[in-house]
Amino acid sequence: VVTRAGVVTVVVVTGAGVVTVVVVTGAGVVTVVVVTGAGVVTVVVVTVVVEKAAAAAYEGWRRLGVKERAAILFKVRDCLLQEKETIAIILSRENGKPLGEATGEVGFAASFFEWFAEESRRQYGDTIPSPAPSKRLITVRQPVGVAALITPWNFPIGMIARKVAAALAAGCTCVVKPAEDTPLTALLFAKACERAGVPAGVLNVVPCSRERVQEVGAALCASPSVQVLSFTGSTAVGKWLYSRCGPTVKKLALELGGDAPFIVFPSADLTRAVEGAMASKFRNTGQTCVSANRIFVHESIHDEFVSRFVSAMDDELKVGSGLQKGINQGPIINQRQFDRLVKIVNDSVSTGAKMVRGGLSLGGLFYAPTLLTGVTMDMPVATEEIFGPVAAIIPFQKEEEVIRLANTTDKGLAGYFYSNDVSQVWRVAEALEVGMVGVNEPMVSTCEAPFGGFKQSGVGKEGSRHGLDEFSHLKYICFGI
Ligand code: ADP
Repeated sequence: VVTRAGVVTVVVVTGAGVVTVVVVTGAGVVTVVVVTGAGVVTVVVVTVVVEKAAAAAYEGWRRLGVKERAAILFKVRDCLLQEKETIAIILSRENGKPLGEATGEVGFAASFFEWFAEESRRQYGDTIPSPAPSKRLITVRQPVGVAALITPWNFPIGMIARKVAAALAAGCTCVVKPAEDTPLTALLFAKACERAGVPAGVLNVVPCSRERVQEVGAALCASPSVQVLSFTGSTAVGKWLYSRCGPTVKKLALELGGDAPFIVFPSADLTRAVEGAMASKFRNTGQTCVSANRIFVHESIHDEFVSRFVSAMDDELKVGSGLQKGINQGPIINQRQFDRLVKIVNDSVSTGAKMVRGGLSLGGLFYAPTLLTGVTMDMPVATEEIFGPVAAIIPFQKEEEVIRLANTTDKGLAGYFYSNDVSQVWRVAEALEVGMVGVNEPMVSTCEAPFGGFKQSGVGKEGSRHGLDEFSHLKYICFGI
C-alpha cells in the first residue's frame, strides 16, 4: 500500500500465522515490526530521524487556522469510532484485555479528540491592566514545537490519544514512541489519523524493541528539535527521562506510578464500597496506575467487607482470553511483570499476609485474582505498585491514622474513599496527598477532568483545559504607545 503521505506499508502474511509489517516513511525512517504466530513481537528500528520530519511539518501545522485544525481533530474522532471494532480486536490481541474494555478504550481515545478539538478554539490570552499609562500588556498562547510522546502498554490507544490530541490541538507536531508490547495498536491509530487528514510529518510513530528503548529515549531527550517530552510509564523510567531532559531544558510532563489508597470508613454504603473496590482493583486486570493498591477498611466493618468482597470475586471474575465472551480478567502483559507480581505476593505471604483467594499461576501469563488480608504496611504488597489482580486489605482504627498511612508513600496519583459523613468527606478529600480523589466513586478518569499526580507520581496534567498547557507557551507582549 502506498499512501498519500509518501508512506509505504507492506504487510506480508506468510504461512504458519506469521505476519510481517514493514513501515517505511518518506522521512527515511525504517521500522520493521515482526509478529510471530506465537504472539511474540520483535521490532527493529533501523533509523530514527522522525523528529526531523515532525520539525519540518511544524510550521505548516501551527499556521493552520484553528478551526481547520479542530475540523481534522473531529475527523480523527470519527475515524476512531468508525474503526472501533477493528482496532479493539488488535488491541485485545496485543494487550490481552477483554474485548469490551478494549472497545471502551477506543471510545475513550476518541473522546480526547472531540474534547481537544473543542478546547483548541478556546486558547485565550489575557489583557492585563497596565501600571504605566504608556503601555498595554497582553498574553497569547503559542505551541511549543515538536512533542515527543512515550506511552505504556496498559492503555495502548488511550494514552497515545490523550497526549496526541492535546499536542495537535495546541499546534505541536508529534513523535510517538509506543510501548514495545503494543506497537500495532499505535500504528493503527496513526493510520486512522492519516485517514482523517492529519498531514504527513505531523504525527510520527517509532516503535522499537525493549533492547533499543534507551537508545531511542536518549535520542529523543537529546534532540534539540524536540521541545517537550510527555511520558506515561513507570517512575523509574520517568526519572531517567527527567534527568536527560536537563541539557536541552525541555518542557516535561510525566504521568508515573501510583500507589492509590482506597479507604472504607464506618459510615460507607458497603454495597457501593465493595462494587467500587472491585472495579478499581480488577479493571484491566489491575494493571492501571490508578488501581486501588492498598485497601484500608475500618476494623468495625472489616469482616463484613471481606466476606462481601470474596463473594463478589467468586461470582464476577472470569479469567481467560480477552476475545472470549464473558471474560473480564485477561493475562498479565509479559513475563517480566508476571514474575514481579508473583514475587510481591509470595514475599507478602511469607511475612504474614493471609491468602484468602488466588495466589495461583493458571498457565501462561494468567494469574488468579487474589485477595490478601492481614496486610501490614511493611509488606511488599503495601509498599510496591502491585499492577495486577491482587487486592491487599489493611485494617485501621482512626481517621488520622488511616490518613497518615495513606500518605506514607512517595507516590500521589489517585486516592479513593467511601464515607457518608459530610465533614469527614471534606477533611479526607483535602488531606489525601494525591492529584485525584474519588469520593464514593472509583472511576475518575474522563477527558473533561485533569489527570495527574502529586509527589513522585508526576508533573503536569493531561485532559481537561489544563492539558493544553503542557504543549503551549504563555507569551507576554508589551506595547509601548
Ligand atoms: P513498564 O515497566 O510498565 O513496561 P515502562 O516505564 O518501562 O513501564 O514503559 C513505559 C514506556 O516507556 C514504554 O513505551 C517503554 O518502551 C518506554 N521506555 C522504557 N524505558 C525507556 C527509556 N529508557 N527511554 C525511553 N522510553 C523508555
